[in-house]
Amino acid sequence: MPEACILCRIIKGEIPSKPVYDDERVIAIRDINPQAPTHILVVPKKHIASLAAADEADAGVLGEIQMVAKKLSADLKLEGFRLVLNNGRIAGQSVDHIHYHLLGGRRLAWPPG
Ligand code: 5GP
Ligand code: ZN
Repeated sequence: MPEACILCRIIKGEIPSKPVYDDERVIAIRDINPQAPTHILVVPKKHIASLAAADEADAGVLGEIQMVAKKLSADLKLEGFRLVLNNGRIAGQSVDHIHYHLLGGRRLAWPPG
């Protein structure tokens, strides 16, 4: 677990946050730079650098993340939502701890940029 990982530091409580969801394996926090009225990061507590770096043993927690996104979308009464994973710099990944963006609260164009 890299010392400098911003999401590990949030998960460990070294950086204060107000999670919108928190269990043994998954935490969800509001994005610091929201791209939609609702923009939440859904994050496994285990440090996994990217989806490309995940292995078969991570399949359970990555599946749980979808169920957490579903629960949050229902709790927040989102009419529709998008769950986005960026893998690699060229695809927009800037934080090297896997996280899924839950976006909603506005019309979302397709294809994404
Ligand atoms: P990525 O570009 O890797 O797909 O997404 C990283 C996201 O993390 C960005 O949307 C960025 O705004 C968000 N972010 C970066 N640093 C922090 C932080 O310290 N706290 C929170 N809540 N979000 C952060
Ligand atoms: Zn990490």
